[in-house]
Amino acid sequence: MTRPHTSTDTQNPLLADWKAAFGLPPFGAVKPEQFRPAFDQALANHRAEIDAVAGNAASATFDNTIAALERSGRELDRVSNVFFVLAGANTGDDIEAVEREISPLLARHNNAFYLNRALYARIADLYRRKDALGLDAEQARVLERYHTRFVRAGGALDKPAQDRLAAINERLATLGTQFGQNVLADEKAYALILEEGDLAGLPAFARAAARAAAEERGHQGKYAITLARSSCETFLQFSARRDLREKVFQAWIKRGENGGATDNRALIAEMVALRAERARLLGFDTFADYRLDDQMAKTPANARKLLDDVWGRARAKAQVERDALQKMIADEGGNFPLAPWDWRFYAEKLRKAKYDLDEAEIKPYFQLDKMVEAAFETARLLFGLTFTPVDVPLYHPDARAYEVKDAAGRHVALFIGDYFARTSKHSGAWMTSLRDQEKLSGNVTPIVLNVCNFSKPAAGEPALLSFDEARTLFHEFGHALHGMLSNVTYPLLAGTAVPSDFVELPSQLYEHWLEVPEILEKYARHAKTGAPMPKALLDRLLATRTYGQGFATVEYTACALVDLDLHGLKKSDQLDVTDFEKRDLERIDMPPEIVMRHRLPHFQHLFSGGGYAAGYYSYMWSEVLDADAFEAFEETGNSFDPATAKRLRDYIYGAGNLREPAEAYKAFRGRLPTVDALLKKRGLTDAAA
Ligand SMILES: [Zn+2]
Repeated sequence: MTRPHTSTDTQNPLLADWKAAFGLPPFGAVKPEQFRPAFDQALANHRAEIDAVAGNAASATFDNTIAALERSGRELDRVSNVFFVLAGANTGDDIEAVEREISPLLARHNNAFYLNRALYARIADLYRRKDALGLDAEQARVLERYHTRFVRAGGALDKPAQDRLAAINERLATLGTQFGQNVLADEKAYALILEEGDLAGLPAFARAAARAAAEERGHQGKYAITLARSSCETFLQFSARRDLREKVFQAWIKRGENGGATDNRALIAEMVALRAERARLLGFDTFADYRLDDQMAKTPANARKLLDDVWGRARAKAQVERDALQKMIADEGGNFPLAPWDWRFYAEKLRKAKYDLDEAEIKPYFQLDKMVEAAFETARLLFGLTFTPVDVPLYHPDARAYEVKDAAGRHVALFIGDYFARTSKHSGAWMTSLRDQEKLSGNVTPIVLNVCNFSKPAAGEPALLSFDEARTLFHEFGHALHGMLSNVTYPLLAGTAVPSDFVELPSQLYEHWLEVPEILEKYARHAKTGAPMPKALLDRLLATRTYGQGFATVEYTACALVDLDLHGLKKSDQLDVTDFEKRDLERIDMPPEIVMRHRLPHFQHLFSGGGYAAGYYSYMWSEVLDADAFEAFEETGNSFDPATAKRLRDYIYGAGNLREPAEAYKAFRGRLPTVDALLKKRGLTDAAA
C-alpha cells in the first residue's frame, strides 16, 4: 500500500529523520513544546494510514489489512516512545502538562482504531476464512491476536455501546495520568531533613546517600530521607530512632491519601466504576473476569487459588517471624508492641544476630557497576551476548548506553541503563523501549532501557546496592533481554507484548542467576579492596534467602488479593476506598504489623495506566513459572546448560507472543509447572522461621 502523508514539519526534530548513531532520537535538540505538534502530525498520519486500510475497495487479504496495519503508525511510535521515556525518567512541569493533554488524545485515537467498524469487518472476514488463507504460523497468530483485541475492545458492539466505551477509555486515560502525577507530587513534596545527630544506626552508605539527597534539595551539609523506596526502606531498616521511623513510615504509606489536590481516592473510585462498566458492556460480570480472560490464568478463580494456596502459609510464617521480633524487643528491655515501622528495623537486627550478617557488611560487595557487568556476563554465558559501552547523547548524563552483539559479532540491540533516583523520575524500576524489534520493514533492532531508582552516591564514592536492589537490577535486565532477544517478524508480537502474568517470567527467572556461585564469586567484590566476598559471608548470605519471606510474601499477596477483590466488584458506586481497603484486609486477616506493599492510594501498578489492574497476582503466577523453570537448569547440574539455554531463548526470551504462554512454557520445559518449586524457594513448605 502507499503511505499517505500530510505536510511534514521539517523544523521539528521529532519528525525529522533521526541520523544519530543507532537511530537514537536527537534528545539534545528536542524541546517539550515540540511534542504536541509532533503528536498532532503523527496522529493525523496514522489516521490516514488506517483509513486507507479500512476504506480499501479490494476485499480483505492478510497483506492489505493485517500486514498493512502492522506497517502503519511508525511515526507515532517514535514520537510516543521518546515522549514516554522522558515522562517516566526525566519529567518536569512542561512534560507533565503535555502528558495530561496528550493521554486523552491517545486514548481517543486508540478507541477510533479499535472501534472502527469497517476495519473490524475486514478483520472478522479474514478471521472467518483463516484456514483458507495459506498463512504461516506467525501470520495466523497475528491475525488471531488482532481479532481478539478488536473483540475485547468492543469492535463487535453496536454504536451506542461503542460510544460509551470510547468515553470511558478517554476518561480512564486522563485519570491514570493524574494518578501517577499525584503520587510523584506527594513524593516530591516530602523530605525529612535531618542533622548529623539524628542519624543513629545509619551505616556509612545510608548517610552518604542521605547527604546527596539533601544536596539535591538545596540543604548543604544536612541529610534528607525521601519517599523513594531505596531511601525510606533503608532508613526503616537501620535508624535507631523509633520516632523518626514512625514519621517516615507514615509519610510513605500516606502517599496519594493526604487530602487536597493530590489525593487519589476519588480517582480510584471513579476508575473502578468505569472499569466495571466497561467489562459489563463487553459481556463480562466484572472487570477481573474481563481482564483475566485473555491472560494465562484465564479466570479470577484460577489466580485466587494460587494466592490462597500461598496466603495461609505466608501468614503462618509471618506470625512466627513477628513473635521472634517481639521477643527481641522484650529481650532488649523494650516495652512496646511491634509496630509496622519497627518491623524492618528488628528484622535486620535479628538477621544480623542469627546469621551474623548485616546489610552494611554486605553492601560494599554489591557495587552497581559490578552488578551491571554481572548481568551482562550472565547474558553472555546463556545467550552469547556481549555489551560494549558506547558514547552517544542521551536525555540525562546519568544514563549510559551499550551496544549489544551476538556471538558472531552481529548487532543485536542498544541497551540503555539509567540507574539513579532523581526528582525528575517516577519511583519504581521498569524496562521500556525507544524502538521495538521487528522484521517487517527490514531488520529493525531494538533500543531497550532499564530505569531504576538506586541512591546516587556522593561524588567520588562508588554506588552500592543492597542485595534486593541487585536483584531488582537483574529483574529489569531480564525484561530488557526479553525485548532485546525478540526474534519475530510482526511488531504486534515483539518482545514483552505477552500477557502480564507471563511477562514476569523472563525477569524473575533472571534473578536466579544473581545467586549462582559463578556470578557472585566473580562480581561481588568489595568496593574499597576489590576482594571477593569471603566464602563464609557468601554462605551466610545465601542461607538467609528464605529469611523474612513470611513478611515479604504477606506484604505482596495482600496487594494481589485486594486488587482481585476491588476489580471483582459487580457494583462499586460510591466506593469509599479507605474503607474498602480496611474491610478487605480484615477479611483476609492481615497481620496488623504489616502494611500492604502498595496501598491503594499510591498503587501505581493498578491505577497509573492500569497495566496490572486485576493483574498484580501476575508476579506470583510468573514466580510459579520462574521457580520451576530454573529447576530445569538445576536438574542438568549446570546453571548455564547450553541446551536448556537454547530452548529458553527459542521459546521464551526470543519468542515474544508467537505462542500461547502455556504452549510456550511446555515447549521449553516439556510440561506445565507446579507450585512446589515456588513454595520451596520462599521457604513456605513449613512454618518454621
Ligand atoms: Zn517486572
